[in-house]
Amino acid sequence: MAVLPWLRRRTEVVESVPPLVAGLQAIAGKEHVLWRSDELRSYEYDGSIDVGHPDAVVLVGNRDEVVEVVKLARRFGKPIVPRGAGTGLSGGAVLSQGGIAVGFSRMRRILDIDVANQRATCEPGVVNLDLSKAAAPHGLYYAPDPSSQAACSLGGNVAENSGGAHCLAYGVTTNHVLGLEMVLSDGRVVSSGGAVADSPGYDLTGLAVGSEGTFAIVTKIVVRLMPVQERVRTLLALYDTVDAASATTSAIVAAGIIPAALEMMDGLTIEALRRAGHQGLPEDAQAVLLVELEGLQEGLDELVTQVEGICTQNGAREIRTAKNAEERDRLWKARKGALGALGQIKPNYYLQDGVIPRTRLIEVLRTVDEVSRKYDIPIANVFHAGDGNLHPCLVFDQRIPGDTQKVVAAGADILRKCVEVGGTLSGEHGVGLEKQAYMSWVFSEQDFDAMHRLKRAFDPDERLNPGKIFPTPDQVAAATKMWHDAAGT
Ligand SMILES: Cc1cc2nc3c(=O)[nH]c(=O)nc-3n(C[C@H](O)[C@H](O)[C@H](O)COP(=O)(O)OP(=O)(O)OC[C@H]3O[C@@H](n4cnc5c(N)ncnc54)[C@H](O)[C@@H]3O)c2cc1C
Repeated sequence: MAVLPWLRRRTEVVESVPPLVAGLQAIAGKEHVLWRSDELRSYEYDGSIDVGHPDAVVLVGNRDEVVEVVKLARRFGKPIVPRGAGTGLSGGAVLSQGGIAVGFSRMRRILDIDVANQRATCEPGVVNLDLSKAAAPHGLYYAPDPSSQAACSLGGNVAENSGGAHCLAYGVTTNHVLGLEMVLSDGRVVSSGGAVADSPGYDLTGLAVGSEGTFAIVTKIVVRLMPVQERVRTLLALYDTVDAASATTSAIVAAGIIPAALEMMDGLTIEALRRAGHQGLPEDAQAVLLVELEGLQEGLDELVTQVEGICTQNGAREIRTAKNAEERDRLWKARKGALGALGQIKPNYYLQDGVIPRTRLIEVLRTVDEVSRKYDIPIANVFHAGDGNLHPCLVFDQRIPGDTQKVVAAGADILRKCVEVGGTLSGEHGVGLEKQAYMSWVFSEQDFDAMHRLKRAFDPDERLNPGKIFPTPDQVAAATKMWHDAAGT
């Protein structure tokens, strides 16, 4: 069929591709580079309230492409920000200074499951839950289970040193990562640790875990797998007050019992979950504890009885036990869907991540309640109570002028209290862009200096995820002003 001349002219219009983009296309293939503004939109965000604009996104397919991208970024003087699934809650994957987002959604292969040695080797884009699914036929699983585990990547977990509901008994990501392959900011590839239990030399793996993508880009991860326990029992204890649920948390651990999970959800969270259609949750409880106990068949029933006794002594008005795997799954689905359900209350949320000594739960949760009233912002609490890892979730409507400033200021009040009682700013979500301004509450100039020197040893040009973690005077000033404005002081 003859092509009309005007149509030919239109199809022949050659889009002018910026040189950086052309370079990325040459490395990863045209179809794996995003650079038009509509394509970039979803890469401007993560799960936090921060926003930043990448110059381009490259979806890398292997380690060698990462090396080439790093070299290209150097030539163009551009920042590089690794990106997993973008579920981070501290702005870690947000490009606050532009540059290249290196996405790992194509590097999702589980390279090896070594059943005999209970290890797995994975690419960084592997989704957390997919690893446990792949290990399940061998009676194994990957223990760190962030509530986002159906979406978040192992690379993101490593960078944030993520925790999860079952980290109380088994430890967070750093306790399960045995080795890493990493690309440094000059394109060199280094390996640390490995499949054996210990390795000589500096613990570069330990250093990289939790470094929020600021030291190196992780391209391979060796993790420990754990055997699935013989038996598991899941309890839901219902309370009329948050204080009573908090007291139970301390009492269980003080009795020398470390449950596999010990999670709290307050009344507002339960209401949101019920509105979102989750079944099996009480109508009028002000708090529930989700307690999971597991181990060998023998002795587990006695442990359950002991925990039930502690719950009752501390004011539980009812204790429900999951009768089968289906009921257990339903409870966990509710717990892990809690943040999403908060959309039933308000369209946006701002989640805090302070950690406190478990024994101060009652006091700090009362402060959270006071802050909620002071700023007139509903705050839902859904958190890893056993770890003392609070997640006050401030729900708001970003479209209402002043609301965002209010939640940021209210969040700062809560974090301040966490620090005052001997806690700290982040239990598992990292510092990113969100908590930089408060870092000087917990670190001295000398601390910052030591950290900075370490950062520069790995990344002398500060090209990897720049502008994160370390506070700048401007940010501190802006945060202080916002706090005063919102508090009306
Ligand atoms: C509903 C919900 C529930 C959550 N629950 C939990 C929870 O229970 N526990 C918890 O700890 N967190 C939780 N999170 C936070 C988040 O899911 C975790 O921080 C997770 O590890 C982020 O993984 P990601 O793949 O989404 O990483 P991203 O958000 O894409 O990135 C996070 C950080 O990792 C860096 N990064 C990513 N890949 C690499 C790589 N290959 N090399 C180097 N750096 C890299 C990025 O630069 C960034 O700094 C939750 C988030 C949501 C939305």
